[in-house]
Formats: sequence, C-alpha cells, structure tokens
Amino acid sequence: NQNVSASEGEAPRDVLNRVFGYEDFRLDQAEVIDAVVRGEDTFVLMPTGGGKSLCYQIPGLVRKGVAIVVSPLIALMKNQVDALQAKGVRAEYISSQLPPQKHREIVRDIEEGRLDFLYVSPERLKLPRFRSFLKSVDVALFAIDEAHCVSQWGHDFRSSFRDIGTVLSDFSGVPRVALTATADPVTQADILLSLGMQEARQVQSSFSRPNLSVGVTRVEADVFPPLADFLKSYAGCCGIIYRASRKDVDATVLELIGRGMNAVGYHAGMPAEDRARAQERFLEEDDIIVVATIAFGMGIDRGDVRFVVHLDPPATLEGYYQEIGRAGRDGEPSTAMMILHDKALGKQRQKIEANQDLPDERRAVLRSKLENMTAFIETPGCRMQTLLAYFGETDTPACGNCDHCKRPPLTRDGGAQARTVISAVLEVGERFGTATLARILSPGPGGDAEDHVAELDCFGAGRDLSQDVWKLIMRQMIGSGLLAIQPERFGALRATREGRRVLLDNKMPVRLSGTWYAIAPQIEIEE
Ligand code: ADP
Ligand code: ZN
Repeated sequence: NQNVSASEGEAPRDVLNRVFGYEDFRLDQAEVIDAVVRGEDTFVLMPTGGGKSLCYQIPGLVRKGVAIVVSPLIALMKNQVDALQAKGVRAEYISSQLPPQKHREIVRDIEEGRLDFLYVSPERLKLPRFRSFLKSVDVALFAIDEAHCVSQWGHDFRSSFRDIGTVLSDFSGVPRVALTATADPVTQADILLSLGMQEARQVQSSFSRPNLSVGVTRVEADVFPPLADFLKSYAGCCGIIYRASRKDVDATVLELIGRGMNAVGYHAGMPAEDRARAQERFLEEDDIIVVATIAFGMGIDRGDVRFVVHLDPPATLEGYYQEIGRAGRDGEPSTAMMILHDKALGKQRQKIEANQDLPDERRAVLRSKLENMTAFIETPGCRMQTLLAYFGETDTPACGNCDHCKRPPLTRDGGAQARTVISAVLEVGERFGTATLARILSPGPGGDAEDHVAELDCFGAGRDLSQDVWKLIMRQMIGSGLLAIQPERFGALRATREGRRVLLDNKMPVRLSGTWYAIAPQIEIEE
C-alpha cells in the first residue's frame, strides 16, 4: 500500500477527496471536523450510516501525532482498521492476541511518527504502562466510538468505559470526540459528564428518515397470516425479519419456506459457516429474507433492503431505530413494520421482572426502556415524531409517511385525564413510575392504607378508570412527550415542559387513541 497519510496540515476537504475519494462533506461532518481540527472537544450524535467515522478520521490525519480511537469490540476495530489500510492509511489496533513482535512494531511506529490511528479497548487505555507511553508521544486526538457504552442509562453499558474520563483528564490540550448513534437526553448528559466533556461542542444530526414508512400492527392471534399479507406486497424484495429468540428464528424460517418464500435464518447459536453463508446469501440474492436475532447487523451493508419486520417487541428504542435503519439505505421508499402479538409486551415485561441475576439499577433501566418502547407502540401520534422526540429532537413535523399519518387512529380528547395525571406526577415530586401512580389514582379496595399516599390530593382522583387504563393513558402521554421516564430515578415519571403546558391550559386537548376509547367507554365525551 502506498502511504497517503502525509496529510498533516492539509485542508480537511482535500483529505476527503484524496484519501477517501468523496466530493463533499455531509452537512454536519464539516462542522465536527473543523472543530476537532481546531482542538475543540466535540460530541457527535449521528444516526447509523450518517458518517461518524470521518468525523475523527480526517482530523486524525490532519492533526499531528497518532489518533487514539477507543472502541468496545475487537471486531469493530478490525473492521475499521482494514478499511483505513485499504485506503493506504497507517492504522493498527492492539489486542491481547497480538504477537509481541507486532506489538513492538506498533510502539516503534508511533514513537517515530509513522502511525496515524491506533484503535484500543478501554481496558488497554487504562493500563498504567500504556498511559505513560501515550504521555511520551504526540497524540492527535482521542475518539470514543460507541460512546453510549459509557452510560449505565444507555442500552449497552460497559463498565470499562466508565474509566475513560479519568484517563483523558491526564491529557489536557488533546481534543476529544465522543460519537454515538444512540443516546436519549439523559444518556447524553451522562456521557458528557463521565468523559469530562461538559463544555464540548454538541453536534446532532437529524435522525429523521423520510423514505422509511414506519408501522405497528397488533394482533390477538398468530402473527404469520398478517406477516404473509405484508410480504405479498414485497414479493421479490430483500428484507430482514427480527425475532427475539433463536427458536422463533428457526420456526419463522420454516414457516416462510413452507409458504414458498426464499428465507434463511441467522443467530449466534448457528455454526460459523452457516452464518457466513447466510450473510453471503443476504448480499447476493435479490429476494432473500433473512430471519434473525439482533446478532445480525454488524457490518451489514446492503442498500436495497426494502423492509425490516419485527415480530417481537425490541427491548429498546435505540436498538429498534438501529434495526429499522438497515432498510432503505439507498434512499428509496422502504417499510419498517412491527407485527406484535397482543401479549408480547406483557411477556417481555415479565421476563425482566423474573430475571434474578439483574441488579436493581439495571432492572430499572431495562424497565424504563421497555416502557418507552411500549409508549411508541401505543401512541396515536406520528411514529417518526415519537421516535425523534425520544432522541431529543422535538418540534419536528409529522412524517406523513407512517401508519398513523396515513390512517389516523380513532382518538378522543383525554385532556381532563392528562391533567389529572400531570397534577399527580407533580404532587408526588416526580418520584413514582406508572404502576405506582396508577395505584394512587385508582386505588384498590383497602389496598394502600398503610402507605403515606392516602393523604395525597390525587389519591383516588381517578377511581372512574381502572389502573390498567391509567397506565395506558400515561404511556400514551410518554409517547407524545408530555411525560418522560427517568431511568436514573428508577423509572419515575417527570412532567416535561410540554406536559406542564397542558396543565396550565384547561382547554388544551390531548388526543388519546382508540384502545383507550375501547376500554373506557364509560367516559362521556362531548364531541
Ligand atoms: P456511521 O459510523 O455513522 O454508522 P460510517 O462512518 O460507517 O457511518 O459511514 C457510512 C457510509 O457513508 C460509509 O460507507 C462511508 O464511506 C459513507 N460516507 C461517509 N461520509 C461520506 C461523504 N462525505 N460522502 C460520501 N459518503 C460518505
Ligand atoms: Zn408519521
């Protein structure tokens, strides 16, 4: 490979053209790259496929010294290093499997200024010997990839990421770039705090995907007939169907093959060669349907995936967004469909409660994540808006392309009920989650006598509705951004600014959907 890395001081755009072969920066890349080249700490929130890698790779080439990239997985490091080397960029990664000879070579290359990128694990970064080595050489920047792993409120917490901030504090003057595709606002704040980057510039790309039509269908019986219906309109297309368990992957493959479709399974329990074969077929066959667990995903690069179907509720909206993001990368119209059995959410909830190995804090996080997922599923509003709001993007217009935008569900004004909930949330000091609040609003006979809650004004304020209906109302309010779940306070609900506005204006309508409409027929509605 010819060495193209002699780019110190070169203009970022020239590096983009010469090394990476691209004409122009994408919108937010230029802002990030300029800031990092100048030496500013920067936090980058960009969807998968948005082009995060260049945000640190170009500054890494332009700035003097070796860029240190912290990454959670060897497979990710290897993937990136291979891609850089293929472009003639001098990049390596350290793993414990490396022969000592190779290790010494890397150290020498860095000392002599011959390496531009070194990918390391957080465990490696922490080693005192490694830290003092870094102190003795020029470091261009620190990039923390998959930065959501820093936060225990994120969906993929790794305790080893927790210490990165301490190491970085030794390197004042070296810019830090933290990058992630998935972080709700609580997680974002936690990442910045943990990495000592509170002053960092924050660049957030839109997560909107205008070519994706998002929909959710709930069924009381078997999911296969509606799935088959859906697939009919995508005959001949490539798609992915996600399932939660290996057993269901296998069963779904059989079902589809039995219906004459071209399907193949993918999960971590399959022999490596079968998995490789499935990946190959996915890349090669026009009409292939891959049925997979979330193990399928990394390094998937096929632009014309026309649909992604979920037959089980994803555990988190972060994961869900990442998975549906694999559809329509080419920008052509594509669909993200969720077909759920009515009992599926309840089962998932029970699984979290029944898992004895979970520490309480972790259980609270998982519960909050699933509650947000449920809110998304139950919302009567625009799906894309609900997703974007979850990632902190508010004030976006309705997408016009999701199931609810195309066929608005029956709703009724639940403003009075919403105000009852918000008053209660505020009265209890935003300290309780949906279940407790529902019990306070609509207490069972004698049920809560021993609690202090009986003295609250809101105690029994919602006896006209069952606890289940109150929970449903609260989840819809979460989905529409009136309430937010605080994973850091064990899932307690908080009234958002929007929510407080509903309380201030007695006339403001709050649309609640047909499910509520169906189970609360006793409510008189003037419309
Ligand atoms: P992310 O890490 O955000 O998921 P990547 O950095 O892997 O995204 O980039 C996704 C794809 O977009 C890659 O194939 C990359 O080469 C391409 N890409 C990134 N920036 C540009 C650009 N400015 N112009 C054209 N393609 C780009
Ligand atoms: Zn919509």
